[in-house]
Amino acid sequence: MSQTNDRGFYLFDMSWPEVQEALKTVKVALVPTGSTEQHGPNGTFEVDTARAREIAIRLGKRLYPHALVTPPVQFGVSGHHIRFPGTITLRPNTFIEVLMDIAWSLSQHGIRKLVFINGHGGNRPSLSIVVNRIKYELGIDAAWVSPTSVVQDIIEQHVESPIIGHACESEMSQCLYLWPQCVKQDALEKGTIYPHVYETWRRLPVEHGRYWDEITQNGALGDATKASYEFGKIAVETALDRLTEYIREFIIKDKD
Ligand SMILES: [Zn+2]
Repeated sequence: MSQTNDRGFYLFDMSWPEVQEALKTVKVALVPTGSTEQHGPNGTFEVDTARAREIAIRLGKRLYPHALVTPPVQFGVSGHHIRFPGTITLRPNTFIEVLMDIAWSLSQHGIRKLVFINGHGGNRPSLSIVVNRIKYELGIDAAWVSPTSVVQDIIEQHVESPIIGHACESEMSQCLYLWPQCVKQDALEKGTIYPHVYETWRRLPVEHGRYWDEITQNGALGDATKASYEFGKIAVETALDRLTEYIREFIIKDKD
């Protein structure tokens, strides 16, 4: 777990009297969602969780004293990676119920707005269901966002690989900037995606149910050997700027 020294409300560093005091100014909870899944030879099982957590911590600092950052949800929906040794997955319904319980708990402390900071693509369909259920069942505003998705334009400007998306040039660059200990710098490899899969993706936006080893032999996409700290820095800092502005609006608006 990342240790934090700068000002910010981080639940994992606080006592309950400190939380009670913080709740006088807190308007939103930030919940990082990650995964425990393979990232090719390029990264550790912590990659998605570390990215989500480190982004949330930095947002917590920028939004102080209005944001409370919770510990990350370290397990996500990763069934498609299960054939790679080490991957641990929750079933989608389990993941949804875990997030619903987290939201309910936060609502008991008076939190009325919640943003999931998501680091793992496999969580997305479940997060879409969760934010709507939180609204309808708990009556509180919830949103989810992928820090990578809010900077697609920046990524397209800088990326050299023809395809990205997992354990790739973009993801490993973000890791080099945010949490370099999850990058296996001496083992970086280009993704070995199967040509027929790439050809289908290029032609039509069809989604097949596939195991990840049916897509890429080494578990990676793109070319992580091109990853750089500088690319990671510009992608992450731009994402932080955009997300800070968005969350500021989210917490002052009653409707969205
Ligand atoms: Zn990842």
